[in-house]
Amino acid sequence: MTNMEPVIGLEIHAQLNTRTKLFCSCPTGGQTEPNENICEICTGQPGALPRLNEKAVELAAKATLALGGRVNGFSLFSRKNYFYPDLPNGFQTSQLDPPVGQGGGMTLTLADGSEKFVRLNRIHMEDDAGKCVHDEKRDRTLVDLNRAGVPLIEIVTEPDLSSSQEAVDFLKKLHNALVRLEVTKGRLEEGEFRCDVNISLKPVGSPTLGVRTEIKNLNSFRFVGQAIDFEIRRQTALYVAGAPVEQQTLHFDHVKAETWPLRSKEEAHDYRYFPQPDLPPVRVSPALIERLEKSLPPSLESVMARYRGLGLKDEAINNLLSWPGALSYFEEALKARPEAKRLSTLMAELFLPACRQSAIEPGEARLKPAQLAKLAQMMAEGKLGKRAAYEIFGDLFETGADPEALVQSKGLALVSDGEALADWAKEIVAAHPDEAQKYRAGQGKILSFFVGRLMRRSKGAADPQKAAQALLDVLGPAGQG
Ligand SMILES: [Zn+2]
Repeated sequence: MTNMEPVIGLEIHAQLNTRTKLFCSCPTGGQTEPNENICEICTGQPGALPRLNEKAVELAAKATLALGGRVNGFSLFSRKNYFYPDLPNGFQTSQLDPPVGQGGGMTLTLADGSEKFVRLNRIHMEDDAGKCVHDEKRDRTLVDLNRAGVPLIEIVTEPDLSSSQEAVDFLKKLHNALVRLEVTKGRLEEGEFRCDVNISLKPVGSPTLGVRTEIKNLNSFRFVGQAIDFEIRRQTALYVAGAPVEQQTLHFDHVKAETWPLRSKEEAHDYRYFPQPDLPPVRVSPALIERLEKSLPPSLESVMARYRGLGLKDEAINNLLSWPGALSYFEEALKARPEAKRLSTLMAELFLPACRQSAIEPGEARLKPAQLAKLAQMMAEGKLGKRAAYEIFGDLFETGADPEALVQSKGLALVSDGEALADWAKEIVAAHPDEAQKYRAGQGKILSFFVGRLMRRSKGAADPQKAAQALLDVLGPAGQG
């Protein structure tokens, strides 16, 4: 059988970071009760007229510019007609042609180190639907319209991706970029960043695309990877069996990790798009584009390059980039010039988990960036061991105390006092004459045995590097055997 390769395209929905909905002044969040944030516009009452949220247009344009696309000075909203109980208007207000943004893309670094440019087809604005909630007890379905009219952008890629890994890497990078731009809050569990995956197989090297299926509404990076892998296996099996792949819309069942059809082509919607007569065309002035361009933060690439230059691994960088608050905290702490790598480790392992647990933003923590930087620097200079640092961290986080003072008061500072170390070194070498002789006979590795003993003797307080030096002074150089 010919070798087949997957062809994957993504449609990503990101909720725009606005206070109010796309066409009315209802709040986009903070609701506690169903149908609390609704009005005559977002519930589609007869005669109610939508008014476009200017901030949403700015954010959509900002995302387009940051992703290297072109902002259309003139774009249109259309009605996308279909019936669904949680869609009170009977249509979604979306942009067909022209959309607010076109073109652009992002560069991915692949597993083999090579680079791939993933092109974007378009970025358009649209409003979200409400949701149906099934009430099992009374066997009825209720409609909650809090989300109806919440502003989204849909970002559509070209089918440039070839594996689940590439798709997931692309999504993570896009999520980082949009969150950092504050275009979206991007909370996946809230459905603020979700995607549909289009996928088909074709013979390797063939220019003709196969029949594609679409997996709807994935809101976790892991599910995207699992759904793509399952769908590649399913379509491959069909090709092997000589059976046709049907054009279908699929749902991913994350419990069983498999896809199943929602509807097939025969039932596909004819949306009967037409321009929304209640809204004038969207105009984005050259002056606004210029202002937005100036407001863009340094590109992701330049931030990555700077952090790599400081010795940070990509995983650590992505960890910081995925939380704007974490990134600005890190930047602030860097001003104290600590060892950047150690600082990022402390953030990833201790500080950010503590913030998450207390449900606070990094900037709200009592422990200030300069103090965390100091802790990192004390470790880098060998004044504090890792175990001791982790031991006092809870206190530091709670109180925002000065790490140096806290270490002093708890007597946790590393012993690097030459005299104390020399005494311990002498004592330990004298207690282990056989090992000392082996060392002198050429078994240099035995030094680590002595360092271990000395660390234990000091109850973990000795500076390991200075301890090794003190032992070398007593033992002399390892013999040549
Ligand atoms: Zn409303």
